[in-house]
Amino acid sequence: MNKAYEILKKYFGYSSFKEGQEPIIKSILDGHDTLGIMPTGGGKSICYQIPALIFEGITLVVSPLISLMQDQVDALNTLGVSSVYINSTLTPKEMHTIYMEISNGDHKIIYVTPERFENSEFIDRIRMEKISQIAIDEAHCISQWGHDFRRSYLNVPDFIKQLPSSPIITAFTATATPKVREDIIKNLRFKPNVFISGFDRKNLKFTTVKGVNSLSYIKKYLKEHSDEGGIIYASTRKEVDSIYSELADRGYRVGKYHAGMSDNERQQNQDDFINDKLTLMVATNAFGMGIDKSNVRFVIHSNLPKDLESYYQEAGRAGRDGLDAHCILIFNPKDIQTQTFFINNNQFESSEEIMNIKREKLGSMVNYCHTSKCVRSYILEYFGDDRIENCDNCSNCLDDGEVEDITIEVQKILSCVYRTEQRFGINMIVGVLGGSKNKSILNWNLDKASTYGLLSDYSQKDIRALVDLLVGDEYLEVTKTEFPTLRLTKKAFEFIKSKENFTRKVTKIQRKTTYEWE
Ligand code: ADP
Repeated sequence: MNKAYEILKKYFGYSSFKEGQEPIIKSILDGHDTLGIMPTGGGKSICYQIPALIFEGITLVVSPLISLMQDQVDALNTLGVSSVYINSTLTPKEMHTIYMEISNGDHKIIYVTPERFENSEFIDRIRMEKISQIAIDEAHCISQWGHDFRRSYLNVPDFIKQLPSSPIITAFTATATPKVREDIIKNLRFKPNVFISGFDRKNLKFTTVKGVNSLSYIKKYLKEHSDEGGIIYASTRKEVDSIYSELADRGYRVGKYHAGMSDNERQQNQDDFINDKLTLMVATNAFGMGIDKSNVRFVIHSNLPKDLESYYQEAGRAGRDGLDAHCILIFNPKDIQTQTFFINNNQFESSEEIMNIKREKLGSMVNYCHTSKCVRSYILEYFGDDRIENCDNCSNCLDDGEVEDITIEVQKILSCVYRTEQRFGINMIVGVLGGSKNKSILNWNLDKASTYGLLSDYSQKDIRALVDLLVGDEYLEVTKTEFPTLRLTKKAFEFIKSKENFTRKVTKIQRKTTYEWE
């Protein structure tokens, strides 16, 4: 590892490794295929760049985004590491020059998009070189369970097979749930040493807010944090425009970013935000890839993201400097419909299998909003990192609301789902429990069910919140079928048998919002 330290200092100017880097680099230098899972900002690039400089021959880096690879190559060349990218932006002449340089041994690191592996000229040229390492960046793109599945990543293993000698294969991602991890290993057809580190971002405080008007909440938050800069994510261009105008009208130094704007305008806003000319950025999820701004003090999601991978990546842009930062998710049930609509109407992907995966991931995202346990532990469990019980720094852990016993209510709900044979969805179950005279309830004769009206003292909204809580804490599950129905989980049956009490906190946020915003 001495050589690795030397290079770390000489080229990158650092004297120590970040958490998780050293064992990954050691594994690669020892000649093992390696999968490194680290959160965004964890320092994945150095993990393959240092071995690239130590190994004889060339390292090919597979990267999904042209802009990302251009940035990486620029940065490396500035540091004195000769590298180059090959992608569709090059003219035939430029391509020719680059192939000449490669055969002269001028470049140690070559960045390519996965689509390059469909190009026979590239394959013929590269086969003539000594490739010592193939590093697959953003490796979750090879998994249908990843949030950015890219079919062309699947060509990588076949390409590797065609090479005259076998290079070391390394793969890196920030967002590997256990399912993605298995998929990466299966699809890359390799048996790597796997390293997972550092998913817990201790300086980030996670808050979920429910039952509020997003815009009012954001305005209030900004007023209370007027000296701080941050990002506000919204799910549609229209919402970005509307939040942006509201804030701009109030005199905030705010920019916006979404796919409906010109490249120039977007670039300008992004640069101004990074250079602190703007303190706030309102954006769709198009904003942020590859952005390394350290002093983002908060990230507010004004809408529900499509899955926890996206959420954690976007929220994780806060507090890169290690100082306290706040990640707030504003949950409104109507956003579930918006996200479901996106899934059902995606013109690029209509396979039923992928749509079901997306529905299931959205389900986990929704459950994150409803869970009563520590939300950080929920995230860490989702990503397969070590579990913790309570973090004392999230909205659930910090909630000092009163604890109420809802054992009877929970028993009634579970009983209603069970006795109606687990054949109905949330709205019907809420209606039956509340004693609703809704037409579909009468049509199904559910007003004759033994559990009809069992919670008629409660409002439909309160019953809904209880059912959501049971789904969030995995006592009930929603089937991922065309007409989703509620079912009892193993945990529910265990709870019924155990005769334990069921408690929940009446959250401070809920109480506050009832008075202030509704
Ligand atoms: P990732 O790809 O995991 O998001 P990067 O490779 O872009 O992360 O690295 C994130 C930041 O951390 C970069 O600014 C990089 O220069 C810095 N970094 C990487 N390794 C170290 C180190 N050993 N010491 C200090 N900073 C580092």
